Amino acid sequence: MKQDANPEFFDKRAVTVTRHKLPLADEIIPWNVDSESGRPDSAGDGVLIDRYGRRHNNLRISVTDRCNLRCTYCMPEEVVFLPRRELLSFEEITRFVETVVPLGIDKVRLTGGEPLLRKELHKLIHMLAALPGLRDISLTTNGLLLAEQAQQLYDAGLRRLNISLDTLDPLHFRQLTRRDGLDKVLTGIQVARQVGFRPIKINMVAIRGFAERDLVPLARFCREWGLELRIIEYMPIGAEEWEQSKVVPAAECLQWIIDDVAPLRSIDYDPSSPAQEYEYIDGRGRVGVIATITRPFCHSCNRLRLTAEGKLRYCLFALEETDVKSMLRSEPFDPHYLQKVVRQVVWSKWEGHQIHSPDFIKPQRTMHAIGG
Ligand code: SAM
Ligand code: SF4
Repeated sequence: MKQDANPEFFDKRAVTVTRHKLPLADEIIPWNVDSESGRPDSAGDGVLIDRYGRRHNNLRISVTDRCNLRCTYCMPEEVVFLPRRELLSFEEITRFVETVVPLGIDKVRLTGGEPLLRKELHKLIHMLAALPGLRDISLTTNGLLLAEQAQQLYDAGLRRLNISLDTLDPLHFRQLTRRDGLDKVLTGIQVARQVGFRPIKINMVAIRGFAERDLVPLARFCREWGLELRIIEYMPIGAEEWEQSKVVPAAECLQWIIDDVAPLRSIDYDPSSPAQEYEYIDGRGRVGVIATITRPFCHSCNRLRLTAEGKLRYCLFALEETDVKSMLRSEPFDPHYLQKVVRQVVWSKWEGHQIHSPDFIKPQRTMHAIGG
């Protein structure tokens, strides 16, 4: 039976995001406000909330800008990477997280570049796992080095993994990543399953010209191996020329799965998650979609990003960022001052990314240098 994905897909997030149109939250949680600037001035406990009432609990940490692939949608072939001394040390990253946990950050995702290129990453996981109040640590990886590191990462306390894989076709893999390595990624996925990671999500960027042939086999593969497919709409944050025509809308992807794999139904929508979740009607697996382009979720965004060299960003598409490395390296370290700066970064967050507006400006950094 052919189903229509659209009614379920479109009923829950009917919001057009611009930087200035959303109303302020009805009730803003009170804090100390600087009487002159009107900005939050409290450095003590309390939630990180912005001018639009969005509460922030989710931090993405890039541990390196280096990568062993060169995905066309993410980064250029030729790159000058950061000198290693510029990267935040594990102690500095932990110091940052420890400082923001009292402000309500309780979820952290490690990313990059390719995070498994950072030597002894498991030590950082171990340090973060020991922080009281941090309830969720996850990792996004391209999987190339996963087979050899999976057990160490698990033993250090990591449980949740996203592995990026856009295709099961070696030729497409090479075209998309400019490198070989599909076999290694597949081995990494199997080892991660055996070690016990759950859930394992497979991130696929849906790009016109590839997804038509790659999505359905990937969805079947995920269903067979107990993995959750995450379909990500192609965003203008890479090095190559981005065109709307290269974006495959998430609704179209869902329809392909419904037609050629098995029927899906939507699961209760979690407003704090960028992904909309679906499950197969027969109960054999889930599919999530991140529809940044066709259904922006800026109105419920709860994320902050820390780059590998210690710049704090309130949005993937932000045009400004705040250096926190100097604060993390200062002796004596002043956690209250850093908390105040983080609160001000959140306060200055814009309403949304404006990708569809003529005002949209693509950030100078490409995805690998921000942290996906
Ligand atoms: N190297 C790791 C990996 O590939 O999983 C982590 C970093 S990567 C930047 C994080 C995620 O961003 C990946 O799932 C990748 O597919 C996604 N990504 C990169 N460029 C993108 C783009 N232009 N649009 C949508 N997603 C993108
Ligand atoms: Fe590397 Fe991940 Fe970017 Fe691909 S998406 S180039 S694997 S950082």
